[in-house]
Amino acid sequence: MTTRATRLILLVVAALLVGCATGSPRPSGGAVAAQLVAGVSGDGAFPHLQALQGIADSNGGNRASPGPGYEASVDYVASVLHDAGYEVTTTTYPVIPGERRDDTRQLMLRQVIAQTRTGDPEDVVMAGAHLDSVPDGPGINDNGTGVAALLEIATRLGGSPPVDHAIRFAFWGSEEDDLNGSTYYVETLPGPDRDALMLYLNLDMVGSPNAGYFVQGGQGHKPSQTGPPGSAEVARVLADQLATTGVTATHTTFDRASDYTAFVAAGIPSGGVLTGDTEDKSAREAQSWGGHAGEAYDRCYHSACDRIDNVDRTALDRNIRAVAATLAHFATSTNPRLM
Ligand code: ZN
Repeated sequence: MTTRATRLILLVVAALLVGCATGSPRPSGGAVAAQLVAGVSGDGAFPHLQALQGIADSNGGNRASPGPGYEASVDYVASVLHDAGYEVTTTTYPVIPGERRDDTRQLMLRQVIAQTRTGDPEDVVMAGAHLDSVPDGPGINDNGTGVAALLEIATRLGGSPPVDHAIRFAFWGSEEDDLNGSTYYVETLPGPDRDALMLYLNLDMVGSPNAGYFVQGGQGHKPSQTGPPGSAEVARVLADQLATTGVTATHTTFDRASDYTAFVAAGIPSGGVLTGDTEDKSAREAQSWGGHAGEAYDRCYHSACDRIDNVDRTALDRNIRAVAATLAHFATSTNPRLM
């Protein structure tokens, strides 16, 4: 075990002792959190990024939905989660014909949902990342990193962890095409299943090469920016956990379009992590986070150069640890209803 891992465990244990003193989370939850956070890493996620790059390389350089690179990505993710012991389903969603297609037939595409076999299915902690790329590139930072992060966390956690609340992972299709996959999923989810969602946590680009550290939830002036009540609590835990990895996150709004949109609209407490796209890093940010001021967080955003070498592996590592700890925190929380 590395010194870093030991230090993380100590930090988590210390955090849990404080938590116990105030009446939250249970000791069993502490063990889950400590074990999970010590087990996950950016290095562990890297083979998944390599697999996604390989899929793009053998399918015309992209993983866009609809398309063979996307279909191969669905198969890859489903098989990794199946082998890890999850209950895996590939739900379908319709692609609404848009300007891009002159064919008006409705296509049904698959996306992947996986859930732990343990934990109360009436109180579900959900995390998701979009699995499709744009047609112009392989989409390794956007959003191979979000996918690889969730696969690393899911495989270290295993399909039957000792959690109080079930954990569900989603790998959305057609995010780059008007958020079709996640929108259809939320809008067709029966009422009781929607009510069962404690929270939704979104990962969309978590390894930008000139990384920023942003968390979403509770920030802004209107509900579409802040998310529903409870969102600030998700963001607080994410920021606290990022702080244990050595960075102070900036809180930002839900304004950019990503898969949280339908969850926010449905009143489900939501949070998000992201490392930035086309905007430039400020001098102050570069001082705080490192990297280059006056340059884009990701100069390869939506381009052919969004390849495996377009990833800041430290940013990926930090976000994986923070998301893992956050999921473990809420999955073992004695108070599943966030306000
Ligand atoms: Zn994206």
